[in-house]
Amino acid sequence: MKFVEKAFRRYDARSTATLISTGGVLPLPVIAVLAPQTLRDGGLVPLLVIWSFIATAFLITAFRERLSDGEFAVLGTFGIIGICGTSLILANPRPGIAVLALVAVIPAIAAMSPSMPLVISLLALAVTGSTTVLALTTVSVPAFMISIGSMLGLITVPVFLVVALRRSLEATLHRQARLNGIDPLTGLFNRRGFLARVAQLLAAARVSTGWVGILLMDIDHFKRINDRHGHLAGDGVLLSVAAAIRETAPAGSVVSRFGGEEFLVFCVARDEEELHTLAEQFRVAVAEANPVTLSIGGVCAPLVTSTRANALATDTVVSRLLDRADRCVYRAKESGRDRVDVVSMDPIVWRKPSDKSDGLEPVMRSTPPDSLYQLFSRRPADFADYPRTPDD
Ligand code: GH3
Ligand code: MG
Ligand code: MG
Repeated sequence: MKFVEKAFRRYDARSTATLISTGGVLPLPVIAVLAPQTLRDGGLVPLLVIWSFIATAFLITAFRERLSDGEFAVLGTFGIIGICGTSLILANPRPGIAVLALVAVIPAIAAMSPSMPLVISLLALAVTGSTTVLALTTVSVPAFMISIGSMLGLITVPVFLVVALRRSLEATLHRQARLNGIDPLTGLFNRRGFLARVAQLLAAARVSTGWVGILLMDIDHFKRINDRHGHLAGDGVLLSVAAAIRETAPAGSVVSRFGGEEFLVFCVARDEEELHTLAEQFRVAVAEANPVTLSIGGVCAPLVTSTRANALATDTVVSRLLDRADRCVYRAKESGRDRVDVVSMDPIVWRKPSDKSDGLEPVMRSTPPDSLYQLFSRRPADFADYPRTPDD
């Protein structure tokens, strides 16, 4: 059992399937030597040739551990030819047909890869090979028609199933990745979702006003709402505050729920005065529509981009802005709550990530894997830095 577990950890799914399918054929010559009547006359030499290839394919797969699409295309092509050849040299048609059915395995394994040319070429080869063998071995046209109909179903249905399963799982993974960045209660971006997009937001602010502004908002005495009216009522207030903030946010700004009762608005502002006015609008809008008030800390700064070594990385820009905004919130709380404290900072020199990196933070780009095939192709060690949810 341990050996099987070890093998699964070492090989990716496609290589494991290749090892199983080629390994199953390895005892064939022993059977042929022990019972020569299983082969047609003169079948031993072709069988040994085919067997040598299959043994080579087994060894290559065992050695490579993860086959590339190119390697699988070569091994798969010879595998289909080998299976068709073996089926032809077996004396009895029943084991011959059973062996021929194995051609269906190769396109099904190929379908695990997102490479459609690979899948279609191996599918076409399997159909052509099995049709040829059946044409040579079946004794009548009706027998041929029945056999070829069954064989086509046997070859194509597993391919469709694997492709459909792979696509639906890929769609689920992508949906999951998107939802990971969304707060389930308010539907706003959560902290992770905001941080994953911050480079894109900074780039947009750079070309828009050249100023970056953020407003960090903390609901005042929110714990009292929970304590007096219950957690459910607290959730209702959070929802209604989120709605008021979202409705007040001007076009181009991005609202996220940054923590329990904290919201963050990434703003397009031209200067400190404009950000201050905006912060006041948020404060008034929330106070008018809710039984709570907000303390708002705001920070804005001119943003320039540079490729020089002393330019700040995205993470550093964000943590500086947040740190300053946090201090402003603290000051607003200290001076009586239900107020706004906005400051401007010196120009920020930002090292914009290269276009190739698309502005997403590495953690969002690498997880979940881009496709299910990559997931299959990973070794367990690759998951060492896989972000965990609290439930993991
Ligand atoms: P302050 O004016 O100093 O900000 O006081 P506060 O009571 O708002 O702040 P504090 O940090 O003491 O408490 C925040 C509360 O928010 C505590 C926590 O139970 C509550 N909270 C956090 N997330 C949620 C949530 O999703 N739903 C509800 N109902 N309450 C939450
Ligand atoms: Mg708080
Ligand atoms: Mg609070």
